Amino acid sequence: MKVKVKFLGGAGTVTGSRYLLEINHLKVLVDCGLFQGLKDYRVRNWEAFPISPSEIDMVILTHAHIDHSGYLPKLVKEGFKGPIYGTEATLELIKILLLDSAKLQEEEAAYAQKKGYSKHEKPLPLYTIEDAERVFPLLKGADFEEEQSEYPEFNFTFYNAGHILGAAIVKLKVNGAQQVKKIVFSGDLGRYHDPILNPPARLPFADILFLESTYGDRVSKIKNPEEELGRAIREAYRRGGVALIPAFAVGRTQMMLYYLHRLQQKGKIPDIPIYVDSPMAIDVTKLYKAFGECHRLQPLFEEDQCNPFQHKNLHYYQSQEASISLNAVRGDAIIISASGMATGGRIMHHLYNRLPNEQDSVIFVGYQAEGTRGRKLIDGDTSVRMYGLDVPVKANISYIEGLSAHADQEELIDWVEGFTSKPKVTFLVHGEDEARIALQRKLKEELDWDATIPEYLESFELFDGI
Ligand SMILES: [Zn+2]
Repeated sequence: MKVKVKFLGGAGTVTGSRYLLEINHLKVLVDCGLFQGLKDYRVRNWEAFPISPSEIDMVILTHAHIDHSGYLPKLVKEGFKGPIYGTEATLELIKILLLDSAKLQEEEAAYAQKKGYSKHEKPLPLYTIEDAERVFPLLKGADFEEEQSEYPEFNFTFYNAGHILGAAIVKLKVNGAQQVKKIVFSGDLGRYHDPILNPPARLPFADILFLESTYGDRVSKIKNPEEELGRAIREAYRRGGVALIPAFAVGRTQMMLYYLHRLQQKGKIPDIPIYVDSPMAIDVTKLYKAFGECHRLQPLFEEDQCNPFQHKNLHYYQSQEASISLNAVRGDAIIISASGMATGGRIMHHLYNRLPNEQDSVIFVGYQAEGTRGRKLIDGDTSVRMYGLDVPVKANISYIEGLSAHADQEELIDWVEGFTSKPKVTFLVHGEDEARIALQRKLKEELDWDATIPEYLESFELFDGI
């Protein structure tokens, strides 16, 4: 038996994760992500897929983030018909995220047409909401730690990865004629001390390892985000205005709700109302209730007083009118809204309304990519462009660092130490080159492991004649 891998993305960048395994005649795609960020990468979403999607037999997903799943509607549109496996929680999240992604694609195409900046007369979206819905019938759920076998050539198993709800490490067992070989994809690994998600499972053995390296060059500094958040909220309260928290709908919003509830319970911040103003965040929060086995909060859901997602101070605002009504709130309130980097969504009208007001505060709690409005605000810009106007920044802007859903360099090394022997090959994926090189060096220094840094579209033969 022969096994090969080709890197169709996730090499040299943190987006567009997609790894094509060829196991004899079978073609298995692990993750099917969208390229995001810089234009050089984004154009790849529009290029022809490196092999015909109809030739791919199945897709296995590590988790629901768009950079791991967002290309699926295009893959299906271009002829993929096989099963798409993920954990049950991943599949529920994917439905929410793909519909949102499709909506953004449609809006972007409409905007490009209106502004006339596309070279096409009628710019088309990469995919539509209808295309996204065509993915759903192909989704196949699998439980953690339960072996799945669609073909006799290999089985695969999901293990908890932390990171986000439902995220998995994937172990493939290739059944050769003479030998069995194990291939492990780390997926995106979470933190060891996440308050909500369980730490990533350690696996004892891999012949071949695909290791994520997002923070391969970073050690996170902040050890107590709850305290930092408490301080920022107290300061906002002292100023007499509203505390506005831009947060991603998946993961970060729920983490904020958890910390804010604890702070209120301990009396460290005042007992003021907390508004969640994001329909997507509301849908995602409901999934935590449905998938109690994926996180540590389940015992807290049993008692009303302890439930961080349901208590007297917490209000979910679903409708557009309700969202707008929050603009009349002048003080003593916390508003959480998306998107986390202030690039779109309802947070926009809140910022437009709050930024010119000295009493109000904006607290950023996630990474702010270069070029985003969020980044400009934490860099201290005195005005930002919104709705075609320059909006003066008078509100107090703060940024809580170190809140990440990714293992840092120390945690990656920690996780790798769970293996009782060195894999034959370790590929460093899902990282910018700087991060991959730093992690490669660290693995050599600490564990005497040699790791390979694959390039985009590079192929490797993993086994021959097993
Ligand atoms: Zn991820």
